[in-house]
Amino acid sequence: MWGFPLRDTEGDPLAPSVDVIPLGGLGEFGMNMLLVACGDTAVLIDAGVMFPEPELFGVDLVIPDVTALEGYRDRIKGLVLTHGHEDHIGAISHMIGRFDGPIFGSPFTLALVAHKLEEHGIDPGDRLTAVKPRDVVEVGSMRVEFLRVTHSIPDCLAVALHTAAGIIVHTGDFKIDQTPLDGQTFDLHRFGELGSQGVLALLSDSTNADRDGFTGSERTVIDGFEEVFSSAPGRIVVATFSSSVYRLQLLVDMAEQFERRVAFVGRGMQHISQVAERLGYLRIPPGIQIRDSDVRDYPAEDVLCLCTGSQGEPMAALPRIAIDDHRHVKLSPDDVVVFSARVIPGNEKSVARVMNHIAKRGAQIISDDQKRVHVSGHGSGEELKLVISLIKPKFFVPIHGEYRQLARHARMATLVSPATTVLMAEDGDVLRFDATGGRVADRVAAGRILIDGSRTGEVADEILRDRRHLAGDGLVVPVVVMNGQTGEVVSPPEIITRGLAIDPRHEGLLRDLPELLVRAIADAPHEERTDPGLLKERVRLELQRVFRKRAGRRPLVLPVVMEV
Ligand SMILES: [Zn+2]
Ligand SMILES: [Zn+2]
Repeated sequence: MWGFPLRDTEGDPLAPSVDVIPLGGLGEFGMNMLLVACGDTAVLIDAGVMFPEPELFGVDLVIPDVTALEGYRDRIKGLVLTHGHEDHIGAISHMIGRFDGPIFGSPFTLALVAHKLEEHGIDPGDRLTAVKPRDVVEVGSMRVEFLRVTHSIPDCLAVALHTAAGIIVHTGDFKIDQTPLDGQTFDLHRFGELGSQGVLALLSDSTNADRDGFTGSERTVIDGFEEVFSSAPGRIVVATFSSSVYRLQLLVDMAEQFERRVAFVGRGMQHISQVAERLGYLRIPPGIQIRDSDVRDYPAEDVLCLCTGSQGEPMAALPRIAIDDHRHVKLSPDDVVVFSARVIPGNEKSVARVMNHIAKRGAQIISDDQKRVHVSGHGSGEELKLVISLIKPKFFVPIHGEYRQLARHARMATLVSPATTVLMAEDGDVLRFDATGGRVADRVAAGRILIDGSRTGEVADEILRDRRHLAGDGLVVPVVVMNGQTGEVVSPPEIITRGLAIDPRHEGLLRDLPELLVRAIADAPHEERTDPGLLKERVRLELQRVFRKRAGRRPLVLPVVMEV
């Protein structure tokens, strides 16, 4: 044995090489996950989910296929989480059992992770390890350094991995907010220092690569909201992502200024606002917050509701409020509903439906099209160029985006730093950097795994649960054809089953199902009947209930609602 340094078959010393393997986030928005492996050490960066396209019936979440990790299992020494967005931490409960070692993140990120694991009944033990910007930790044979970046939520980190083959910088999600609400600025200095030290490869967020200029600070929405607050005759209802804590802070401050009480509406909103307040990321002046159940006890013009559902998710607060089916919050014509979030591609139809329902309540709708009530958390062209020019890496790999954003980001890198070699990669490519250069050297399995029902948070492993349901109780596909205008069932629903075993005494159940469904649909409020998204949810719940009650079965139910 030669020992270190390793030698090749000719006896020459083998220069160390480092592999970068994206498993998600290159070629799509979401499910960000990437592995960096060098010698005996591999480090995972992020474990995110993606929200499914509407064609994926019954699927709630999409996570990366990580069978490739099996080959690295013994080498994976830790997971680094850049920040607390779902597309970076959402798959944590599926991933935590696939490696040993610590999970690094900032305190806010880890608080969100801890809650997620708890919902899935997983005890992380002492694996959650809090880090702060400029911390450097030893992970196996790598040194992992954390750098502060700015984005739409607090406590975001970029990562610099110091490996035997060189430094790899991963930006995480970022924009360059020079006046962040919490005063914690982007660590441009350290980026510059790393650049002069020499960086082997830069992996950078391409989400907004197709926008020119600068994205703008979180503060740029203040004027738009001031106009809303100074003119709204009734309640102000703002839908945004619950994790957008800066947006929440800005709105809470504005409520104080305009003497309105604030109610957090929706489970996610209540949870994250509590966590953020407890950890000191959200400051709520005493006496200003009210419970959602108290909203109706205050004059409409004194209330601000901050709620979930900006993407039109059927079970979230705003879509329920929109169809007048929320326990505590009712809309009236004086109210103003503000959509303060980007519509994630694929959700346009559900959001439009929610807006239609709100319009039927008579309330006024304000979105980014009317006023500046939303600003992106991702850097535009000039910010992306600035980071490239600070780092001037040997190799540049655009990450986080569909292929066209990656390609545009790649072109910027060539402009900014002609000496840099750009490598375009997709999920599953093995990028190898060594003394001879950098290239796509190999491929591993990569793809998507579809998850159903994870929003209930009741079951530890959704994949297994689905398989169990399918294997044990089969599949039921109710096909309902509706008149989109009247909300009436056009023809008797068809029930397709596969692998469904029912005792002879339950056979009558199958015969009764179409009629049962027609009745359940007829009982639904008109607005729910004319909304395929909501109707699907009702059909699913109803069939699950009937099968459980009358046959003791829990088949997987995937409703198909067609409009004519
Ligand atoms: Zn993010
Ligand atoms: Zn992201």
